[in-house]
Amino acid sequence: MGGCFTVLQHLVEPQPCSLCWRMPLLRAFSAEELIFLFLCDSNRALTWSVFLSSTIKVDDFTARLFRIYMQVLEEGLAQTVFLGINRSDYMFDCGLDGRAALRQIEINTIAASFGGLTSRTTDVHRLVLKVLGKTEEASQLLPNNPAKGLALGIAKAWQLYGSQRAVVMFLVEEVQRNIFDQRCVENELWNRNIRVVRKRFRDVFEQGSLDASRRLYMDGQEVAVVYYREGYVPQVYDQQNWEARLLLERSRAVKCPDIATQLAGTKKVQQELSRPGMLEKLLPGHPEAIARIRATFAGLYSLDEGEEGDRIAATAIADPDRFVLKPQREGGGNNLYGEELREVLEKIKDSPERTSYILMDKIRPQPALNYLLRAHSPLQVSECISELGIFGVYVRQGQELVLNEAAGHLLRTKAVEHADGGVAAGVAVLDTPYLL
Ligand code: ADP
Ligand code: MG
Repeated sequence: MGGCFTVLQHLVEPQPCSLCWRMPLLRAFSAEELIFLFLCDSNRALTWSVFLSSTIKVDDFTARLFRIYMQVLEEGLAQTVFLGINRSDYMFDCGLDGRAALRQIEINTIAASFGGLTSRTTDVHRLVLKVLGKTEEASQLLPNNPAKGLALGIAKAWQLYGSQRAVVMFLVEEVQRNIFDQRCVENELWNRNIRVVRKRFRDVFEQGSLDASRRLYMDGQEVAVVYYREGYVPQVYDQQNWEARLLLERSRAVKCPDIATQLAGTKKVQQELSRPGMLEKLLPGHPEAIARIRATFAGLYSLDEGEEGDRIAATAIADPDRFVLKPQREGGGNNLYGEELREVLEKIKDSPERTSYILMDKIRPQPALNYLLRAHSPLQVSECISELGIFGVYVRQGQELVLNEAAGHLLRTKAVEHADGGVAAGVAVLDTPYLL
């Protein structure tokens, strides 16, 4: 499903949600949540190597990223300004006891998308409501402009890098399916008189170089910020692209994200962070923030070799509908559910391969009836469920946190029969929360 279709996809009417009282809370903790993920570099290196030690033995892609991380740490980081653009995704779990709770699905630390397009969705839905004669309802839609917030973070990082001549480089896909989403952020930067170039890994391999102080140049043009909208799936990396990635990571340019932060977004790190006492260890002196963050965690389980992993693997094989089986991959369509989960787990339960996955409790949101407007699909009423993403942007200079803010939200809605798959996969549509 291409970017041009994605623009057209949205709900006919916004999805009613009772998120009202929760929105300020979400803003607060989505910002706080970022702090522990982006502690000082030495802490992170140690933490991530412990968390990922079993995974990198069996998952080549994670292992390769991890090796680059270790290599740049050994050489000494040239980068001093750090920029993170994250999206933490949540679903409302009805729970077996019928009590609704907001549960985190995952945090996306690389190429978190749709901040641009969703900055337009509210206007579309406001117009639809007005056309339907629902002026009062139209006035109640929350303002939402992640494109602006994301650009603000990039602009801040560019400014702190400190070279007027340097550009921001969007590292984009070979086939540019989501260009319009990216353009919304790009245009905000041009409005601030910051130059933007769009390049692929292959361009970096051909044109990229470092000077003696590891400043990054593309054909003689200095690059201040590299904003990755690519680089999170193994398939894009051939030998040349790995070399290009290493060049970027070694450079002084502000990477969004740097490779450590990409690793922080793995499912394995998410699962390890949820262990009892782990947040307390990483965030000492913040008991209230910890309580708020922990309240959003669903059950997450390690499949590492040993008794703990054996037990949960057996439980999941006996009752697969309770769980989601997740590999260390991004971009949708990788998770396993139901019978497929059982089959795969049966096959790998006695092999080290199982440690490349984690298990997660399945979240069960309350469905609501609505119309999904999708290209090439008839318009019909469907039972829909929604996923709420909160964008967070932070900038750190050395150990000083210069910016750490929530930048807006993204609501994606899909028909209940789809277990997995997002907007890019053609399953979910962009939506707008309507607060009751
Ligand atoms: P990816 O990194 O591939 O986007 P996610 O963890 O976000 O992986 O999962 C993809 C989709 O699968 C989510 O958008 C959501 O619709 C569904 N999903 C993931 N985890 C759960 C869960 N625990 N319960 C229910 N649905 C889930
Ligand atoms: Mg996701």
